[in-house]
Amino acid sequence: APKDALLRVNNVEVIYDHVILVLKGVSLSVPEGGIVALLGANGAGKSTTLKSISNLLRAERGEVTKGSIELLGEKVHHLTANDLVKRGCVQVMEGRHCFEHLTIEENLLTGAYTRGGGSEVKADLEKIYEYFPRLKERRKSQAGYTSGGEQQMCAIGRAMMAKPKLILLDEPSMGLAPQLVEQIFQIVKQLNENEGVTFLLAEQNTNVALRYADYGYILESGRVVMDGEADALLSNEDVKEFYLGLS
Ligand code: ATP
Repeated sequence: APKDALLRVNNVEVIYDHVILVLKGVSLSVPEGGIVALLGANGAGKSTTLKSISNLLRAERGEVTKGSIELLGEKVHHLTANDLVKRGCVQVMEGRHCFEHLTIEENLLTGAYTRGGGSEVKADLEKIYEYFPRLKERRKSQAGYTSGGEQQMCAIGRAMMAKPKLILLDEPSMGLAPQLVEQIFQIVKQLNENEGVTFLLAEQNTNVALRYADYGYILESGRVVMDGEADALLSNEDVKEFYLGLS
């Protein structure tokens, strides 16, 4: 594995409710500055992998029972999700999870809660609006009344307000029209290139994920069955047949 890994997942096993074995020894590595895609069908264990990293499993009666997770070389299993945010690791959950009764702008500001206020937060908000002009237009709207795409943008923008090194992005394409999916991935790419944010993203949409990612891991029933450079995976015959719907 590369020495400059920002995140390393070593042979992680996860069990839900003390009996349901869902991850059967997953290992992966995310280099600093990379975009890594975690691919696989519904139920393969993508969300569970992300939650095991950000320590969000306990709320769902899940537990890492083997293996380890390291952020910048430091084991993180003892940290809360909040501690992880302070260390620069933020998860954007599947289904977006905006606060419906808050406005878009209030939602974005909640992302900065670990930082204290100040003029810097205001400047960062303006920066988010440059990446997401749509959010600026909708800043006074209650999030619950905005579209699915706007809520996904809001969730990513909120994560950015924490000044993360690493964003764990769960299924950003879910429920969105293809054009909007493209737009969101383009912004992810810009945030990666211009702001230096590293991404680990879980996606069922293999095609779009591999076009924007550098590297991919394919999960099946809680195991990594294939991994490689994104270009190589996109042109791999097995990947084409089983995950891209064309052969
Ligand atoms: P999806 O895109 O549907 O989220 P996924 O690849 O992210 O798929 P997971 O959500 O990680 O998959 O789920 C992996 C397996 O773990 C599935 O079989 C699912 O039913 C099971 N599972 C997920 N959460 C729990 C839970 N809280 N308790 C028990 N089993 C769970």
